[in-house]
Amino acid sequence: MTSSFYPPLRTLMGPGPSDVSPRVLGALARPTIGHLDPRFVDLMDQIKELLQYAFQTRNELTLPVSAPGSAGMEACFVNLVSPGDTVIVCQNGVFGGRMKENVERCGARAVMVEDAWGEPVSLDKVASAFEQHPQASLLAFVHAETSTGVRSDAAALCALATNHGALSIVDTVTSLGGIELLVDAWGADAVYSGTQKCLSCIPGLSPVTFSPRAVERIRARSHKVQSWFLDMQLVMGYWGGSTKRSYHHTAPVNNLYALHESLLMLKEEGLEAAHARHRHNHEALVAGLEAMGLAMAVAAEHRLPQLNSVLIPEGVDDAAVRAALLEDYDLEIGAGLGALAGRTWRIGLMGFASNERNVLYCLGALEAVLASQGARINAGKAVHAAQAVFKR
Ligand SMILES: *Cc1c(COP(=O)(O)O)cnc(C)c1O
Repeated sequence: MTSSFYPPLRTLMGPGPSDVSPRVLGALARPTIGHLDPRFVDLMDQIKELLQYAFQTRNELTLPVSAPGSAGMEACFVNLVSPGDTVIVCQNGVFGGRMKENVERCGARAVMVEDAWGEPVSLDKVASAFEQHPQASLLAFVHAETSTGVRSDAAALCALATNHGALSIVDTVTSLGGIELLVDAWGADAVYSGTQKCLSCIPGLSPVTFSPRAVERIRARSHKVQSWFLDMQLVMGYWGGSTKRSYHHTAPVNNLYALHESLLMLKEEGLEAAHARHRHNHEALVAGLEAMGLAMAVAAEHRLPQLNSVLIPEGVDDAAVRAALLEDYDLEIGAGLGALAGRTWRIGLMGFASNERNVLYCLGALEAVLASQGARINAGKAVHAAQAVFKR
C-alpha cells in the first residue's frame, strides 16, 4: 500500500538544493491564507524590500517569479529580447548554453563568447565581440557558474555592456547570498536568481530584479512577449506595488512564507557576514582537501566559496564514491558536468549548509570512502588542516 512519504535526512553539499534551515521549514508549514488577503499583500511588500536588500538595489521591479531559477532566466530573455536582436552570450559552463537556447527561441541571434570550462568569462573576448557586433542590444553572462565553480567579473562585464549601449542579463542563481552582488553599483539590468542555493530556501522560486532602463525597454516593446505567464507587464499588475493588485496567478503562498523567512535570516546575519562565512568555510574545506592530497580544479583567484570543484584522483570510481557517501553517510555531493563530467566533484557550501560541522563531516566521510576504495590519499590530515583554519 502507498503511504506518506518521509524523506531520509541528508546533508546536502551538492550544487543545490542546499540544506533548508528548520526556521524556513517551520515557516512553510504555517496556515495558508488567500493570495489577495491584505496580510499577504503586506508580506509581499516585505519580501520585495528584503529582496532589494539581498540584491543591493532600489529597483522597483524586484520580485520572486513563481517558478524555479530557469523560469527567472526565461523571464529576463523573453521580456528583453525581440526577434532579430543580436545578443552576446558568454559561455564557460552549462548555463551559458541555456542562455543561447533562450535567445534563439526568442527569434534573435546569439553571438557566442566561449571560454574553457573552469575559466572565467574573458573581458577581452567580450570587448571584441562588441566591436564586431556594435548592434548588439544585450550581453548575457553567468556570475557564478555552478557547473564549474568559477566566478566571473560581473562588475566589469556590466560596465562593458553599458559602455556599448547594451543592457546586461546576469545569472546570479548561485551568487545571491554567497558572494558580493551589487546590482545597482554594477549597473546590472536584468538579474535573476534562485532560492535553493545560497538562500537555502526550498527550490521553486526565482527572485528577479529589473533596472529602470530594462523596464523602459520592456515598456517600449512593439509586440507582445511570447510567454503569457512570464510577461512582466502583466506580472507588474500583481507585484507592482500600487495599492490595487489584480489577479494574475495564484501566488505560491506557503513558498513565499519560506522565502520571507530565509531572506529575514540573511538580513539578520548581514550580507557581509554571510559572505565572510562562506569564504571562511571554503578556506577550511580547501585546506582539508589539499591536506588529503586532492587538487582543486579552479585557480584560487576564480574560485567560488559556495561551490568547490575538486579533481577526482586517478583510478577512483566517481559514481561509486558518490553512491557510498549518499548511502553510508547520507551526504550528497555533486558530479562534474559537461567537459568536467567524470573529472571533478562539486562540493557545495551554500547558505545554511555552509558551516563548520558540514566541512568537517564532508572531509571525514570523503576520506573514509576514498580509503575504503584503495585511493592513495594522505589519511588523518584533512580534519586537522580544516580545524587549523577555523582556529585562525
Ligand atoms: C541552479 C542554476 C540555475 C537553474 O535554476 P533551477 O532552479 O534549477 O531552475 C540557473 N543558473 C545557475 C548558475 C544555476 O546554478
